[in-house]
Amino acid sequence: MNSPTRRPKFPLSLDAVVERKPAPARTAGMPAVGGARTAATSKVRAKPVAPAAVPGSAVEARATAASAGGGGMASERARGALAARLRAGGIRDERVLLAIGAVPRHLFVDPGLASQAYEDAALPIGHQQTISKPSVVARMIELLRDGLGADQPLGRVLEIGTGCGYQAAVLSQVAAEVFSIERIRPLHEQAKANLRPLRVPNLRLHYGDGMLGLPQAAPFSAIILAAAGMEVPQALLEQLAVGGRLIAPVAVVPPAGGPGQTVTQQLLLIERLNRHRFHRTALEAVFFVPLKSGTI
Ligand code: SAH
Repeated sequence: MNSPTRRPKFPLSLDAVVERKPAPARTAGMPAVGGARTAATSKVRAKPVAPAAVPGSAVEARATAASAGGGGMASERARGALAARLRAGGIRDERVLLAIGAVPRHLFVDPGLASQAYEDAALPIGHQQTISKPSVVARMIELLRDGLGADQPLGRVLEIGTGCGYQAAVLSQVAAEVFSIERIRPLHEQAKANLRPLRVPNLRLHYGDGMLGLPQAAPFSAIILAAAGMEVPQALLEQLAVGGRLIAPVAVVPPAGGPGQTVTQQLLLIERLNRHRFHRTALEAVFFVPLKSGTI
């Protein structure tokens, strides 16, 4: 993948990681994001991470410094352990592992579920939706980054299905710019609130129907869908840059009359070879919430 759009130098970091506190304390004094616009941007200056940083480096040091009390150390250890489990499970991209080790997943789930936040499991986030499994988040982002070194971020990335904002935060660590769309307004608002204390300057949240993409910000060097449709929406293929990659769960319907009529899903990797040609690779079976049109 040698497209220039996939290889800008743009050092990124979570400038600070704040442990979950009771709601008023957590947001007190934090910069407001988004305002009345439908797009929310968390934009506070971030210190750059040294290129080719490895787990256990600057991001984690700042996370610890910003965390009050032993909960911070416990969360840091849990994040590190999660990244180690994903490495043992086959994730090879050090930048992805660093990002998983840096993003405090417990801030993206209900406080009652925080003790499960560093297990490799999907968890409910309300509105019949889930926060994706860390191993699946890591796998999909690794596929988007295939061929890039740890010091080479993705370019402009579009995520469909912000949910609670966790994957968007992980993406913000491995890409120059991230745009994420959510169709359920309360989840869009929740994601804004979850991301505010993390001060992620290169992430923009949009409320809308992600099946339409975000033409005003296209083309994207990578597109990632966090919900499964029957097929990949045409608008998203059109908004993928030449040389770019799209990863999506899609439904696989077994042939009529065959045994077992259950609809399953598989990951589909699509590479745009030129204006008209796309190369598709079907990968492993997965389980995602459905991709739906319109907004609620
Ligand atoms: N990215 C999340 C996963 C959220 S679950 C994470 O970090 O774990 C998938 C999300 O996709 C749900 O919140 C669902 O509402 C959303 N979704 C489904 N169809 C959509 C569409 N057409 N546009 C935008 N979001 C959509």
